[in-house]
Order: sequence, then structure tokens, then C-alpha cells
Amino acid sequence: MRRALSLLIFFAAVLCRLSVRAQTAKPLNVYFIDVEGGQATLFVTPTGESLLVDTGWPGARDADRIVAAAKQAGVTKLDYLLLTHYHGDHAGGVKDLAARIPIQNFVDHGENVEQALGTPDNYNAYLKVRANGKHIVAKPGDDLPIGGAKFHVVSAAQETIAKPLPGEGAPNPLCAQFQPKDEAKDPLLGGENKSSVGVVISLGKFRMVDFGDLTWNKEHDLVCPNNLIGTIDLYVVSHHGQDISSLPAMVHALRPRVAVMDNGANKGAAVPTFITLKSSPGLLDLWQLHYATDAKEHNAPEQFIANMGQGGTIMMGVPNETTVYLIRVEARADGSFRVTNSRNGYYKDYSSHQ
Ligand SMILES: [Zn+2]
Repeated sequence: MRRALSLLIFFAAVLCRLSVRAQTAKPLNVYFIDVEGGQATLFVTPTGESLLVDTGWPGARDADRIVAAAKQAGVTKLDYLLLTHYHGDHAGGVKDLAARIPIQNFVDHGENVEQALGTPDNYNAYLKVRANGKHIVAKPGDDLPIGGAKFHVVSAAQETIAKPLPGEGAPNPLCAQFQPKDEAKDPLLGGENKSSVGVVISLGKFRMVDFGDLTWNKEHDLVCPNNLIGTIDLYVVSHHGQDISSLPAMVHALRPRVAVMDNGANKGAAVPTFITLKSSPGLLDLWQLHYATDAKEHNAPEQFIANMGQGGTIMMGVPNETTVYLIRVEARADGSFRVTNSRNGYYKDYSSHQ
């Protein structure tokens, strides 16, 4: 009897400890905020530290959307703002955002290298805001000093990592088909896009990449002739799905299980990118921030798309939508993760690594 009782107490103690562990093993939360063809992605690590990648377009619209997502995430200040580069769809919203929420640390690739498209204005406005916080210049090979998850820089200022991530670096046979693009021909293909800060984000066995608007030829350098990154769980589709990024030899070598595309209704989401994604070995699902009006039947099934409307890209003068939805990812250290569409509550669980 006594022995039975002590066994019972023992098992009760084990159960108690297990449930405590389950509660304390918090996920890495990622919020893909709809800024309609720009980027704004909020990360909240298991230790509660926050990092926002990019600020969307200038004006109140995107800053308000980011603050609403931060509120939902329980974030009252941004510990880090990482600007991938200084184009208006990424850095345009800095001033408006900083007027709404405190920002402590600023991460970027260094000086602006482009004179077109109002980029110097974005950069100068950013410098004024950055002066109020701590500045970190991202260098390939660095880890950002954020706690709770690893943010490893693999590209910045047109440089990419020279050495593979630990345990990676296998030859990539897909490189044999590589055709470089003439990135000097078009100002949109030059300077800032290819300067993008790219990061590999990991929590235990879970791994995702966000390369901003990094371009085709730089993507090549990350995976050719050897795949310096290895395989990943989630791919933030570079450059909103424009087809001057998402080199097939990179996407297919990374073998993401899930891709999330931050496209607008009328921006990004190019048909060749859809084809690259859909033919990617092991890809289970593509989630989109917007229905892509020009891609028609290539769009993901409706339940995987956060916003179905016509949208409004500021550049094209299309009216703004009043209610927008986001895609949320909750990732765990065992490699499992859940993706949720806030429009319809549809979610899908992806399994842990064996
Ligand atoms: Zn962009």
C-alpha cells in the first residue's frame, strides 16, 4: 500500500514536471503582416524578444497594421528592427512606425548604394530615426545578439557567407543548369536589392530563411557550387515572388516544406516563381498574403491565402483595403510548426523532425 502510494506520488511529480516543461517550451512566433507588396514580418522569440524585418511602405496604413500585429503578439516595443534594404516597400515606413512604437536596435547592411526611386530619401529618414537607438551593421557569418532564437546573417551589402553552416556544404548538382541574369541592366535589379540582409532563423531543429529582395545571382552564391545553407522548413519567398529572385537551384536545394509569399494583389507572385515553388521537392504548401490577380490558376487554394481582395499598392494608386489579415507561424524546437490564416482561422500543423 505504502509502495503504491509512493509510486503514485512519483508519477504525479513526473507528470507535473512534464506539463511545466510543455508550458515553458514556448514557440517562435512569426507574423507575416500584409503591406501589399512590401515586407513587414514580426518575430517574437520564446524568451519574448521581438525583431521586425522591414516596415512596409511610407504612411500610416502599414505602420498601423504593424502596430496592430505587435499588439496581438503582446509586443509593446521592438527590440530589433532589421531593414533588409532601403527601397520604399521595406524601409519606407520607418518614420511612421517609430512615431507609434519604440525601437531599440537597428540592423542594416550599411550605407545606401542606390540613387533611384526615392531611395536616398528613405535612407535619410531612416538615419534620423536610427540615431535614437543602437546600430548594428550586419555581416555575413554574424549572429544577431537577440535571445531565444538564432538569427544568422548569410548575406549583406552584396557579400554572402564564404563558409557553410555547421554540417552543411554538400555539392549542389542543380548548379549545372544555372543561367546568370544581367543584374546591371535594370536599376531595380541593381544596388539595393542585391545588398539585402539575408538571415537564417533557427530554433532547435526548426529552420527558416528570409533573404529580403536578394537577387538571382546572389542566391546562386549561397548554394553553388556547394549548398552552404542546407535544408530548411520554411522559405519566405524572396522579393514578394518576383522572378528576378527565387533561383530554382536555390529553392530546390533548400527543400522547404512550406513557403510563405509576401506578395500584393498586383505585385510579386510571378508565374515562373509559382512554377519553381510547385516543382520544389518536398514542398507541402504555399501560403500567400494576397490572392495574385495576374497569376489566376497558379494561386494557392483559397484557404491558404490571407487576403482575397484587389488590394492597393501605394505605387499604383489603388484604394486601400480597410480590413487585412495576416499569416502566423508558431515554430517549435523539435522542428514542428503550425501555420494559421487569420482571415478564416484555417491552420495546418507540420510535423517534427524524426
Ligand atoms: Zn521589395
